[in-house]
Amino acid sequence: MSEMIDTAFDHTSAAAIEPPAAKVNLLGLSRQKMAEFFLSISEKKFRAEQVLKWIHHHRVDDFDQMTNVSKSLRECLKSIAEIRGPEVVSSHFSVDGTCKWVVRVASGSCVETVFIPENGRGTLCISSQAGCSLDCSFCSTGKQGFNSDLSVAEIIGQVWIAARHFNNVPAKMDRSITNVVMMGMGEPLMNFDNVVDAMNLMMDDLGYGLSKRRVTLSTSGVVPALKKLSEVTNVSLAVSLHAPNNELRNQLVPINRKYPLDQLLDAIHYYMNRLTDSKRVVTIEYTLLSGINDQLEHAQQLAVLLQDVPCKINLIPFNPFPRSGYERPSNNAVRRFQESLLLAGFNVTVRKTRGDDIDAACGQLVGSVMDKTRRSERYVSARIAAQQI
Ligand code: SAH
Ligand code: SF4
Repeated sequence: MSEMIDTAFDHTSAAAIEPPAAKVNLLGLSRQKMAEFFLSISEKKFRAEQVLKWIHHHRVDDFDQMTNVSKSLRECLKSIAEIRGPEVVSSHFSVDGTCKWVVRVASGSCVETVFIPENGRGTLCISSQAGCSLDCSFCSTGKQGFNSDLSVAEIIGQVWIAARHFNNVPAKMDRSITNVVMMGMGEPLMNFDNVVDAMNLMMDDLGYGLSKRRVTLSTSGVVPALKKLSEVTNVSLAVSLHAPNNELRNQLVPINRKYPLDQLLDAIHYYMNRLTDSKRVVTIEYTLLSGINDQLEHAQQLAVLLQDVPCKINLIPFNPFPRSGYERPSNNAVRRFQESLLLAGFNVTVRKTRGDDIDAACGQLVGSVMDKTRRSERYVSARIAAQQI
């Protein structure tokens, strides 16, 4: 009997059924983590620099293309590592030059990445989470609930995928990425560590070499995380305000109930004061919802609220999505709101809708999120209860 048991637990057969160890995805490694990886396999640190350049400058995913790396090291890397971006499910190209990629992340959900070419610059808008737990009332991502945080490889992978695409377009169509904004799906400050690592790769000379002014993090106001952010980075900041008083903001941006406007403004000052470059300003994003937050009294309150904040204001006319319950204001209403703030001395722009034909506008990035919070169901039930649908 004991012999039989011994045979059943024989180590060789157990080893045979063990799944192979997961390969390390080098796409998601920062400069420091790449160096640690090479040291851990008894290789010199300069290998990390070579491989980072192959991944982010040459955008290769095949170790055999790394011609300055010895054949034996390439074979070793093939057995323990990989360079794997998120899977591109579909690519869409608008007549106005806007591009959109729908990518699948490890959790099985899909997120969206949008490239917008404009006046000599190319802005890539990337996602940080599949879905979002913050549930802003006018945001289609929020309405889908939260599924997962994106890994560093999945965040920087969106830049890598877009850059690989532009590797292949004719040189005269200059569409290279000059700016990255974390304004796609998700709340970047709720996925803090991965977002910071990915932004560092965007700014690293061995990564995409973007200046800190050209990488922008947009937040709906997670106050403690915003303060922490100022200790680890100095990227440009955008804050989604959407309302000039707590009563209205509590309805539109529920995180305001936890961190109301006075705390948010303090955190903005804290972040801006820590930037050594005094000319930098925070971008205040304000989505205009017809009849809700687009009246002259709101513009006037906003002017008072922001009087001491070094900022520019970006108005975003609401982009409708099915069953949102909100409407986009008329062009006249948008102009009136803008003029009132201009008169008060603010720098105010209105965001143009781009990529209309491929649903690439702000707030229309829906991906396909498998909701773990069942928020979308609760949302629909609440709307039914309120007889809005
Ligand atoms: N979670 C972050 C970043 C992603 S949202 C944030 O909230 O800032 C990017 C911007 O799009 C935010 O300012 C958001 O409020 C805005 N937005 C979301 N849904 C929108 C919609 N349907 N129409 C217009 N803007 C929208
Ligand atoms: Fe999340 Fe931003 Fe949408 Fe609010 S607006 S639900 S924070 S993605």
